[in-house]
Amino acid sequence: MSAARKSMKLLFVSTPVGPLGSGLGGGVELTLHNIAQAMVRRGHQLQIVAPSGSIEDSLPLVQIPGNLQITAQSQERTASVTMPENSVLANMWDYARQVQGEFDLIVNFAYDWLPFYLTPFFQRPIAHLVSMGSLSDALDQIIRQVAKQFPRTIGFHSLEQAATLALDQQFFCLSNGIDVSLYEFCAQPKQQLAWVGRISPEKGLEDAVAVAEKTNIPLKIMGKLQDESYWQQICQDYPNAPFEYLGFLSTSQMQQVMRECRALLMTHRWVEAFGNVAIEALACGVPVISYRRGGPAEIVKDGKTGFLVEPDNIAGLVHAISHLDEINRQTCRASAETEFSLEALGDRFERWFMQILDC
Ligand code: UDP
Repeated sequence: MSAARKSMKLLFVSTPVGPLGSGLGGGVELTLHNIAQAMVRRGHQLQIVAPSGSIEDSLPLVQIPGNLQITAQSQERTASVTMPENSVLANMWDYARQVQGEFDLIVNFAYDWLPFYLTPFFQRPIAHLVSMGSLSDALDQIIRQVAKQFPRTIGFHSLEQAATLALDQQFFCLSNGIDVSLYEFCAQPKQQLAWVGRISPEKGLEDAVAVAEKTNIPLKIMGKLQDESYWQQICQDYPNAPFEYLGFLSTSQMQQVMRECRALLMTHRWVEAFGNVAIEALACGVPVISYRRGGPAEIVKDGKTGFLVEPDNIAGLVHAISHLDEINRQTCRASAETEFSLEALGDRFERWFMQILDC
């Protein structure tokens, strides 16, 4: 960190799919909060713009009313770009347009067409942090266009996520990070497993429940119930599996349960862009058993901080569980402390922002 480093004025524009703190935004909510914390700690000034009803305890927040955006992962790849009347997405970007003169850089956290489309119409540069892999033809097209016109302004969380967009231009791979001090290390777990995430088909919860049934190890499920009929189907299909749904918990409550688990299972069907829950588990000293697909394959060191399993292979997950004693939980915690700390996160994002601003 150079002493001569310039303090930046940053405007963070949140996801329009839900208020911060609702869980509807998935990992983006924690990601935005953590990057903001890291930037403020480094002396940068910042304002967050998010839908009304957002909760943010420690950082300046402007709440914008309007109707929420429907999530990209619940739509067809060829779906048209749509917005509801009185769209919160449009309202947030209208606000950003009005106040842009007070900031050096605007950071877009929405996985939506509009902010990319608006980029050339803004006077201030916009950094786009892309939170999912390719899901929509229209969005792919506009991201490629922005990447061409505004080099270096596109950021991803993992290389495999970035590969789904197949950009010709330079992009930034930023990984992610957390405040490790909020997660307590636990050396002696109980005989139980964790599954943490939005309950939605792309997250593949049913495979983790199948593992609980096969091994008879209780599975603690935590996360936003996003798709009720999907959840009911799982309950119907696995009446005898030892699983328990604990709800959508705060970070503090979630890590209390997570840390007492022998492992976190990640059974996603899609190319997970990153997988915040993987680094949260590691911070508690909990090994991650994940399908070798997307971000988790770049987070987990196979055989050291967990196991990477052939995707969609339940027997592979069960086999990995039988080898959990080979994993040193201190090594998991150390990996979170060195690679995924708020400091490391701040270094990467500050470098990205500075490059966009040519500082
Ligand atoms: N989460 C939470 N409480 C819960 C379960 C999950 O706060 O009970 C948060 C978790 O901390 C993580 C997010 O939900 O930040 C899930 O993000 P992830 O990147 O794993 O997946 P995404 O939802 O973005 O696909």
